[in-house]
Amino acid sequence: MANVVDTKLYDILGVSPSATENDLKKAYRKLAKEYHPDKNPNAGDKFKEISFAYDVLTNPEKKELYDRYGEQGLREGGGGGPGMDDIFSHIFGGGLFSFMGGQGGRSRNGGRRRGEDMVHPLKVSLDDLYNGKTTKLQLSKNVLCSSCNGQGGKTGAVQKCTACRGRGMRVMIRQLAPGMVQQMQSVCTDCNGEGEVISEKDRCKKCEGKKVVKEVKILEVHVDKGMKHGQKITFGGEADQAPGVEPGDIVLVLQEKDHEIFRREGNDLSMTHKIGLVEALCGFQFMLKHLDGRQIVVKYPAGKIIEPGSVRVVRGEGMPQYRNPFEKGDLFIKFDVQFPENNWISPEKLLELEDMLPSRSEPPIITGDTEEVDLQDYDASQGSSSGGRREAYHDSSDDESGHHGPGVQCAHQ
Ligand SMILES: [Zn+2]
Ligand SMILES: [Zn+2]
Repeated sequence: MANVVDTKLYDILGVSPSATENDLKKAYRKLAKEYHPDKNPNAGDKFKEISFAYDVLTNPEKKELYDRYGEQGLREGGGGGPGMDDIFSHIFGGGLFSFMGGQGGRSRNGGRRRGEDMVHPLKVSLDDLYNGKTTKLQLSKNVLCSSCNGQGGKTGAVQKCTACRGRGMRVMIRQLAPGMVQQMQSVCTDCNGEGEVISEKDRCKKCEGKKVVKEVKILEVHVDKGMKHGQKITFGGEADQAPGVEPGDIVLVLQEKDHEIFRREGNDLSMTHKIGLVEALCGFQFMLKHLDGRQIVVKYPAGKIIEPGSVRVVRGEGMPQYRNPFEKGDLFIKFDVQFPENNWISPEKLLELEDMLPSRSEPPIITGDTEEVDLQDYDASQGSSSGGRREAYHDSSDDESGHHGPGVQCAHQ
């Protein structure tokens, strides 16, 4: 009989859970005398609580529900009813939220306002995204002051601001002209817009009445293999705390840092590799240090050509897939073929080389009037060809005509 899940109602009557009906009756009579509103107007809700406890514990059906399932049993078993929510909250403290809280549940619909999420960027290297990494992040956040339980002072110390009647704003009306007024709203200076004031002497020493204090929090952040730029890591309810507010989340947004060799696109990696003409024509191998430190030898056989700017792929050497890291994307290698310098070979050797290379296409047959032009070196970084030519024209005409202004005008004179 004494095996009950909750003793709160027994505590109210000051009896043990093994109390008999007679014990309950005696306890009730004694307390009712003491707390009856007729005799003790200051007792407030105490009498209601006593009556409620007595009502439940002397009703075999309700008593059984309460003993076995506690508050929840009573609520679901119809122990409540219209107007009973108030007394439930009084006794069990805060209704729905209180018994969910005990099991670590966070109420999303407890009627509390939800605080802002705190969003932080988190820079990660491509190496870390490939290998995964656990990192510790230190941040400073507001937590409810433990000395005053987020009240800012002793219970009852918080008073509604009289200057603004708790609104935090004051309205001033100024007469501009007869029949014409200007209404101005400003933050209440008495309470700094808080809507409430705590007198100096009752103010909590620890938080100075601010209700919250700064706390350094260390979060352990797991960056999993294959996570991507922009992906979010969320720590539920870890954002700033404030009285009466359900804290928001801390959200870390991954920012992938540039890598000196690899670029990433989805689960694929790409890179550019320089080779000489001889490698492009005669095959090659080169060594590559991968993001996990492995040395990879990339081979290409003799007899297969690499055209300048062309791309080859190494399957399965891209990024690991998020939550499936044994599956990997591909590695694309673009080849930058470096040609030899001018005059790298003697004219005789060049003839030999020509003999070895695939033969030229047939030269064109040149007949009739023709004009021969020079093919000159051109550097694209010096601007477009038309711009370059105009500049050259200006320069030369300026030289010839001296102080006569733009060259074009000179030519027309
Ligand atoms: Zn405090
Ligand atoms: Zn005020």
